[in-house]
Amino acid sequence: MDFDVIVIGSGFGGAICGCRLAESGYKVLILERGRRWDKTTYPRKPGDRWTWSHEHPEKENGWLELRLFPNMGVAQGAAVGGGSLIYANISCEAPPAVFEAGWPREITYDELKPHYDTVARFMNVQKVPANQWTERMRLMQRGAEAIGEGSRFKQLELAVSFDPEWTYEADDPFNPDKSKTFTNAQGIEQGTCVHLGNCDIGCDVYAKNTLDRNYIPWAEKHGAQVRELHLVTNVEPMTGGYRVSYDRLKDGRREPGSQTARIVVVAAGSLGSTELLLRCRDLMGSLPDLSPVLGHNWSSNGDFLTPAFYHDYDIYPWQGPTIASAIDFLDRSQDGQSFWIQDGGFPNLLGNLIREYDTAGAGARAKLLIDSIRHLLTGNEPFRNVMPWFAQGVDAANGVLSLRKSPFSNVHKLHLEWDVSESRKVMDAIVAMHLRLSAATGGHPVVPPTWSLFHDLLTPHPLGGCNMANTRDHGVVDHKGEVFGYRNLYVPDGAIIPEALGVNPSRTIGALAERIAKIIKEEAR
Ligand SMILES: Cc1cc2nc3c(=O)[nH]c(=O)nc-3n(C[C@H](O)[C@H](O)[C@H](O)COP(=O)(O)OP(=O)(O)OC[C@H]3O[C@@H](n4cnc5c(N)ncnc54)[C@H](O)[C@@H]3O)c2cc1C
Ligand code: SF4
Repeated sequence: MDFDVIVIGSGFGGAICGCRLAESGYKVLILERGRRWDKTTYPRKPGDRWTWSHEHPEKENGWLELRLFPNMGVAQGAAVGGGSLIYANISCEAPPAVFEAGWPREITYDELKPHYDTVARFMNVQKVPANQWTERMRLMQRGAEAIGEGSRFKQLELAVSFDPEWTYEADDPFNPDKSKTFTNAQGIEQGTCVHLGNCDIGCDVYAKNTLDRNYIPWAEKHGAQVRELHLVTNVEPMTGGYRVSYDRLKDGRREPGSQTARIVVVAAGSLGSTELLLRCRDLMGSLPDLSPVLGHNWSSNGDFLTPAFYHDYDIYPWQGPTIASAIDFLDRSQDGQSFWIQDGGFPNLLGNLIREYDTAGAGARAKLLIDSIRHLLTGNEPFRNVMPWFAQGVDAANGVLSLRKSPFSNVHKLHLEWDVSESRKVMDAIVAMHLRLSAATGGHPVVPPTWSLFHDLLTPHPLGGCNMANTRDHGVVDHKGEVFGYRNLYVPDGAIIPEALGVNPSRTIGALAERIAKIIKEEAR
């Protein structure tokens, strides 16, 4: 065998599992379809490498992939470090009640707690210091108090490094030169946060504690190899392990290759891992015994955003970390639904990109959304007085992913069957709360027409598809992340989460990956 372990994907599941196994002496190879980025190569202008094309990844391999399905869009990362490069850094535990049903009996909150703590330590999570609150955090707290729910407001932990001495009042506070460089616990150089608000498009001063600044270099320090631009296409069993085939994306072409290992860890994310395993079962025939429920129980984690406009109130939603606080209704006190509200934000640059975006090739609904945002931007310094009320909630997790042959060609594409009707109650409760908080704080909310007219949703938190369960009839992997029917084949990423968490998922994915890596080491076979 070429390696002890091949890890497919380098997001939370892959980076963490790969790191822990390399640390324990395993010979690890991490294959990642996306590029390795640094702050000098981040996309910044129209025409830069922003997006990943599922159809032509050899030509278009930026760090954001947008998959559009009927009534659902999914945004996800494609990079060494997965979603962490472009995520909003919120690192939170799921509430204990989430684990009371729908999970294998071994997975409880108490079981995951030590692993949650390990991820928090390794990702060096912190809250925004008291002297650095953003205007959106103040508005969140004011909103919660105005509706009589002040005790539900809370600050969240972020995978961001702060300088306690930085303040908004300082001279030229957002100047990247004001960021203080330091060496983190993994020996990698980082900087402190100067509230540039670019978290979702890569931090220009390395204040985000991303996987390519902690788990991945730590894995490399322990001998792991990380190969960028390697798109895995097949996993097939062979004597003593598996052969993993890939296309290397190079100079606009695909160069096929393969490597072998005793253990394979499929960590390509909810859509990526599910699609790869569907291809292995249904097209390549290489893993024919995968569970019949592969692709089932997919969730959008109830994500929703309602922008509200405020007259005479400058919110500057591009200042400071993209999200920093929540108003917590996870206790089902609102119409029996579990959700929380967050303070969204976005980079100033986004306004310019949306203004300049060419909608000629966009579908009718995408065009409607972009045109409506452009209309709102008219006469507005981009977004200056906008509060992007954000939320996640526990939806019905009843999406089904499968492969379907295109009517126009022989190509099979990933398809999502998503029926929003069973999730309507939680989405309606979220929208109602956004409207209530906007009204209570003097804002004018605009529910996106894509929701009010068509019930279309967009999520950055895809979950499920290769669910954990007690048996093969109910899931794809067991509580150890091992695929039913295939020894030494594991999935440790967002694909194994069997239901909506209703909160940002990365720390839960990380905790599951830490636990799975520990079990692989203990049970080394
Ligand atoms: C804009 C945005 C903001 C977000 N903000 C937050 C937040 O604040 N907090 C939070 O908890 N979560 C947030 N998320 C979600 C979070 O990023 C994901 O839940 C998390 O990254 C999922 O981890 P994962 O390991 O399952 O998959 P990923 O992190 O998506 O990693 C999967 C990796 O596999 C690679 N891959 C896929 N297919 C293949 C293949 N065939 N071959 C090789 N490699 C492959 C992908 O390129 C990717 O790097 C956000 C997401 C987005 C898009
Ligand atoms: S707010 Fe700016 S400096 Fe701070 S973490 Fe986000 S991108 Fe980096």
